[in-house]
Amino acid sequence: MDLSGESSFRLVFGLFWFLNLALRIYFQAKARGAKKSVSRHERRAKLGFRLLAVSYVLMLVYCLSPWFDFAHFSLPGWMRWLFGGTTLMLYLVLFAWAHIALGRHWSGLLEIHQDHVLVTHGPYRYIRHPMYCAFFLMGIGSLLLSANWFISGLYLLAATSLYFDRLAPEEEMMIERFGDSYRDYMKRTGRLVPRFNR
Ligand code: SAH
Repeated sequence: MDLSGESSFRLVFGLFWFLNLALRIYFQAKARGAKKSVSRHERRAKLGFRLLAVSYVLMLVYCLSPWFDFAHFSLPGWMRWLFGGTTLMLYLVLFAWAHIALGRHWSGLLEIHQDHVLVTHGPYRYIRHPMYCAFFLMGIGSLLLSANWFISGLYLLAATSLYFDRLAPEEEMMIERFGDSYRDYMKRTGRLVPRFNR
């Protein structure tokens, strides 16, 4: 296995990893302030979320050690930079945009807050779950940039598990709270893929 030049991919991936972590901490701290949950539909984080966290930590292990070299596959360098880099940038933009739009209504758990409003601007104008969509972009981007099927495959598996444990219950909760407004909103938007023709 030829890993020459591999360290530059790991360095960039590591920088992306820290930037993403910083964004997460920043937005989550901002959203946490002064909101009060009035109905909680989840007691603790589901398997998908926990798997996502574990695979995220393993991504750092990939950057710092040769432990996951067994899962390296060959992909032309230019493809890794171009497609991997672009997809990861797209991920960061969508993730930050969704957090900005959702503001204090963001939560790691399924819950409705006091004064909860239905957000339909920003990416929510086109797609109901931009953050979950962003997780898939992150998995695909990391697969292309790292050319490592293990860490990226695990992350994509976690995102898929999150998709199955979260989307239907979240939409049910939103229908329970917002009724026909949410049903109409569902007709105008894509679930995980944006719908632009309205
Ligand atoms: N599924 C969304 C949001 C994830 S955060 C996404 O992928 O971007 C989860 C919390 O967001 C839930 O507890 C719910 O209360 C809130 N939420 C989801 N969609 C919302 C919307 N359109 N407007 C307001 N709050 C929303």
